[in-house]
Amino acid sequence: MKVYEKAPAKINLLLDVLRKREDGFHEVEMIMTMVDLADRLEMEELPRDTIIISSQAGYIPLDEKNLAFQAARLIKDRYDVRRGVYIHLDKKIPVAAGLAGGSSDAAATLRGLNRLWELGIPEDELCTLGAELGSDVPFCVTGGTAIARGRGEKLERINNPPQCWVILAKPPINVSTADVYGKFRAAELKEHPSTAAMLSAISSGSFPGIIANLGNVLETVTLQLHPEVLQLKEIMHRLGADGVLMSGSGPTVFGLVSKEAKVSRIYNGLRGFCKEVYVVRMLT
Ligand code: ATP
Repeated sequence: MKVYEKAPAKINLLLDVLRKREDGFHEVEMIMTMVDLADRLEMEELPRDTIIISSQAGYIPLDEKNLAFQAARLIKDRYDVRRGVYIHLDKKIPVAAGLAGGSSDAAATLRGLNRLWELGIPEDELCTLGAELGSDVPFCVTGGTAIARGRGEKLERINNPPQCWVILAKPPINVSTADVYGKFRAAELKEHPSTAAMLSAISSGSFPGIIANLGNVLETVTLQLHPEVLQLKEIMHRLGADGVLMSGSGPTVFGLVSKEAKVSRIYNGLRGFCKEVYVVRMLT
């Protein structure tokens, strides 16, 4: 038997870090939504009790470092499943990009194996399991649009924002999330984005309100380390995107665009600077 799952990328419309906690994690407030750029996972029952991962992408680990592998092992251990699975990851989401590709693969694995092995695990329990694998995994289990608090695991569903075009551009550099958080100094931050204003813009369906309240405090670190991310933001603004922000810890920058007529001009303009550019829609 085989099951298929899509693992969509996420963007952060807002990312605020409130403080560093005693346990070393950061207390965050993130408003996240999914876009229709997705990895595709195929999961097939194996006759032996083992986990095998394959992918067409040559640049991700296929052993126990792969988050899909870790998700499969976790669900097997926790529910005492003595069956094997072959998981093929068709990667479409750029890796280490700030788009939660690995976390979304882990979440899709939890959802898929729950079906393949008919475990009947409720969604909130899958989220709790997912939190053991990474802070973004619970959100990726449920999808939609949500505000995440704590270290990212306390989720509250909110309305989807009004539909628009999302242009993603990933400069050819790798950014380590751990490195960015390590260099982030919450106490030195002068300004925070307004979570309340963003929530109210989303709930009233105000596109201009969303644009006005986009904010990501991790830009203070990544833009300093990698000036090409700042340059990409400026180019996207100049080309006419309505709002521009870095996603997660970067380096992917996204532009929100309400008018379809502008999209191809922005896409073509960006392609002169950056090979990896995607035009997608929010998943609603
Ligand atoms: P986040 O926004 O959650 O920090 P990201 O989009 O920045 O994630 P990922 O694409 O998840 O980054 O990759 C981060 C690291 O995880 C990479 O170094 C990669 O080698 C490793 N990794 C493990 N499993 C996967 C997977 N299934 N897909 C992609 N990367 C994976």
